[in-house]
Amino acid sequence: MNPGDNPNSLALAGAEPRPTVMKFGGTSVQDADAFARVAAIIRRQRLQRPVVIVSAMAGVTDALLAAIKLALEKGAPTALEWLEPHFGRYSEVAEHLTSGEAYGEFVRFLYAARESLRQAFDTMRRYPGTIPPLRDEVVSYGERLSATLLAAVLTNDGLPGRAADARDCIVTDEVYGRARPRWEDTVARARQTLQPALAEGVIPTLGGFIGATLDGATTTLGRGGSDYSATLIGAALQAREVQIWTDVAGIYSADPRLAPNARRLERLAYGEATDLALYGAKVLHPRTIEPVERLRIPVSIRNSYDPEAGCSMITPDSGAPPGAILAVTHRVGMAAVHVRPSGAWRAAGALDDLARTLNAHGVLVEHLAASRLGLAATVEDGEEVRAACRDLRGAGEVRVAAERALLCVVGNFGDEVTELHPAVSEALADFRVTPLLPHPSPYSRLFLMAEADAPAAARQLHARLVENLP
Ligand code: ADP
Ligand code: ASP
Ligand code: MG
Repeated sequence: MNPGDNPNSLALAGAEPRPTVMKFGGTSVQDADAFARVAAIIRRQRLQRPVVIVSAMAGVTDALLAAIKLALEKGAPTALEWLEPHFGRYSEVAEHLTSGEAYGEFVRFLYAARESLRQAFDTMRRYPGTIPPLRDEVVSYGERLSATLLAAVLTNDGLPGRAADARDCIVTDEVYGRARPRWEDTVARARQTLQPALAEGVIPTLGGFIGATLDGATTTLGRGGSDYSATLIGAALQAREVQIWTDVAGIYSADPRLAPNARRLERLAYGEATDLALYGAKVLHPRTIEPVERLRIPVSIRNSYDPEAGCSMITPDSGAPPGAILAVTHRVGMAAVHVRPSGAWRAAGALDDLARTLNAHGVLVEHLAASRLGLAATVEDGEEVRAACRDLRGAGEVRVAAERALLCVVGNFGDEVTELHPAVSEALADFRVTPLLPHPSPYSRLFLMAEADAPAAARQLHARLVENLP
């Protein structure tokens, strides 16, 4: 069942005001100054019943993944040594911003974390079968350390912060590394865990990105998943708003790092934000909008470095007029799989077989097009794609084009699934692009192209279609 499918199951007890979920990403908690800014932002909204979701400090998830590799190759002591500077970053914040019992509590947690990591590294090396679940257990420490540290910082600041365990709130399936939430269980557990704390006036702090199976094994929601945690918890608690605090003051018409003239989109529709996230805008995890959409909970994107700079609001409608172009994005790391089916395959239903084979290998398919003579799938590239293609060989002639990118124009295009927007085609005349037809969504137009050319194409599209608008 999906979020909001059964609104009765969401009825909240009593007439308590609705909480506000505030999520702080890795760059918003990268050092002591950043933690102090976060505490100040929470203080300003302390009467809004905040529930705080926090990511690992910037760079820590990557460091934990690298430590797992080291542990497998060289053993636990080498991996722990590698992690020490990162633990040091957490300790430094604790030394600067906490004292007394709050400090002691964090130090004890860090000590226990080192011991648990040592055990996990040893076990993974000795029993390779345990690697997938223990990998999630290991990476969860980035977020768990942040949540414990933030609670200590808030307490020290005179605010009623208390760390809650996200694994008691978000219940998932067993797909380690890319787990999917079990919605009904998540609603029940999140409420059970967080509502009593809120009723006491506590500000709960939870790690994003992590959850647990029904049996209690730690799972993760995929890279960048803290945004998704925030909206899952927001939906479970029927929050009045989910605030995503990051290092930019909103969603822009292009990644501001790529196009410095990009402008902020003051309001976006859920569908527009989803397509942007799905096709490369790192500012949101692709599944962020799913939990809040039916409940019509607004999501705002704000800058923790400049809280007064304004924000983008993601709501059911953007108010963009039909045909309006809003943003340009691109997603790298794609591949195109082409199959020219042999006779037998054609008879057996080539499309079904292609979809089944890609699925069986866990290949993430973004687009499929088929005719009697040829099939083309646009997929996320990876080892699984090669394995699937080996299985497809009997099907006919199989070709893979790697190093592809999806170029995406987001706008209010409506349901016309085959028509290309003339201004878009014109702006792309200098590039070799293949439109993906039929268009998968009313909010976007997609083109497949060489990865190396995609940033330049995105910049050109943005300059011609967005920057030059009055
Ligand atoms: P966090 O650590 O807070 O989760 P991320 O690095 O995941 O932050 O996401 C924020 C980054 O997303 C920004 O620094 C920006 O470079 C990038 N980004 C990509 N596309 C966009 C866009 N269209 N609008 C705003 N930011 C974008
Ligand atoms: N820390 C995790 C990551 O780096 C999750 C997140 O930041 O949202 O992917
Ligand atoms: Mg992120």
